[in-house]
Amino acid sequence: MIITIDGPAGTGKSTVARALAERLGFQFLDTGALYRAVAWACLEGEISLDDVKTIVDKTRQMQFRWEEGRLWIDEQEVTEKIRTADVTQGASQVAVIPEVREALNEVQRQIADTRDIVTEGRDQGTVVFPHATCKFYLNASAEERARRRYLELTNQGEEAEFETILEQIKERDDRDATREIAPLKPAPDAILVDSTNLKPDRVLDLLEKTAQEKQAEAK
Ligand code: C5P
Repeated sequence: MIITIDGPAGTGKSTVARALAERLGFQFLDTGALYRAVAWACLEGEISLDDVKTIVDKTRQMQFRWEEGRLWIDEQEVTEKIRTADVTQGASQVAVIPEVREALNEVQRQIADTRDIVTEGRDQGTVVFPHATCKFYLNASAEERARRRYLELTNQGEEAEFETILEQIKERDDRDATREIAPLKPAPDAILVDSTNLKPDRVLDLLEKTAQEKQAEAK
């Protein structure tokens, strides 16, 4: 069974998807990590993010291994390395390239093949797994998402400025939602969940209950 969770940055999708997978005994897939890995490989290899041909060739050559929430590229673990601010912005730049998306869609389908999975991203219910049993679209206001990110960073002792974070979130939302291929939008059959005023546990309970109902219907 495939459960998809799509939505913009900062809605807590990854945390919810991971926890939901754990509750249901499913695998979890963070597809943003794959886009981040491509951006990371470009930055490492000093490939310009405008050099589409080289980025596409690079993506097609990369060997992705995803296990238990950790990612390896060509046998090098990159799980933490792909979380920097540069990689974050770079990921949404490489994500507009159709051939990169095609190559990563294939990687995602292979990972999901033969396992029960909760997969999260931007296009899981619309493009990659249109026949998924259960689809969610998680959203929250840009201000609330920026506030959560600001708290996360300052709690880790990092310097952060709320206005800059809000601006970056809006910039990334805009790039993700207006790109021509696989833009960020809910699948017609997705269940919309607005987490602006909901605690993470409430969101998780809601998704778990709905997923169990869908699972029972599908039997
Ligand atoms: O979810 P995360 O912030 O890690 O994603 C990084 C970027 O990867 C997003 O801003 C988006 O541009 C891209 N992405 C995508 N499709 C997905 C997952 C992520 O385009 N399924």
